Amino acid sequence: MKTLRSLVLLLCIFSLSLFSQNVIIVVIDGARYSETFGADSLYISHIWNQLRPLGTIWTSFYNDGQTKTDPGHSAIASGAWQQIDNKGLDRPEQPTVFEYFRKYTMAPEKATAVVVGKQKLDILTYSNHPDYGKKYKASSFISSTDTSVMNDVKRVLSFNRPRIMMVNLPSVDAAGHSGNWTEYITALHNADSLIWNLWQTLQSNSVYRNTTTLFVTNDHGRHDDTHDGFKNHGDGCEGCRHILCLAIGRGFPANQIIKQRRTQCDIAPTVGELLCFPTPFSIGTSLLRDVGSAKIKIQNK
Ligand SMILES: [Zn+2]
Ligand SMILES: [Zn+2]
Repeated sequence: MKTLRSLVLLLCIFSLSLFSQNVIIVVIDGARYSETFGADSLYISHIWNQLRPLGTIWTSFYNDGQTKTDPGHSAIASGAWQQIDNKGLDRPEQPTVFEYFRKYTMAPEKATAVVVGKQKLDILTYSNHPDYGKKYKASSFISSTDTSVMNDVKRVLSFNRPRIMMVNLPSVDAAGHSGNWTEYITALHNADSLIWNLWQTLQSNSVYRNTTTLFVTNDHGRHDDTHDGFKNHGDGCEGCRHILCLAIGRGFPANQIIKQRRTQCDIAPTVGELLCFPTPFSIGTSLLRDVGSAKIKIQNK
């Protein structure tokens, strides 16, 4: 048994030397695929032109659960579909990556962070699972706009140096619900600039440069134009389900497009593999399995 544990530990140390030591997941709340990767650089020029060539993108990435904010974020954080209330009344039923990581590594609360623009997303800090829960909660920082969230992110990176951070940018969803197309697109441009700025911040930080995997994804999309359009979301139409996924950092090669169908539930086990901890209640499989086999070189557009 002791030998097995030593072997596992050695394997972990070996893989940590190959892969990342920090993970940041940025969720652009409620951006529809047709305005992100589906439109190339039109609305997300920094993500498309500067960040995409640095990493791997999935072009068939889906929310197969409830296409609402709290269930979508909970699926990303836990790797399991969560039938939960969308007003912040229910916590995830399955453990989050923060709880897995803290229980397995005995890391302190500040090593994990939930930095969000919606009060109702405070439920991401820990689940109701009896073997995990509050004892292993993430630190949380709540504000209200993309700009204020990113200011919190920078402060948390400087002062707490978290190993796993999940970020929610709320403004694209809020602008979408306004029903004003120009506001929706303006919010998307702003989120795009903020994420590019975050990447540059990470590159100028000696703790995070070359040691961090950055994911950019969505909690849900928005109705496609044959199902009431961008103003709302929440059903099973293609517009609500199809979302973006980009991964940059150690473990993910540059300039790769993966066409294999993947879902939000695959992110938590990927984080587990990157940081070397198990995610036994997740139903997903690590995205790292796609890299190297299903990869397709991006053609110059
Ligand atoms: Zn919404
Ligand atoms: Zn829909």
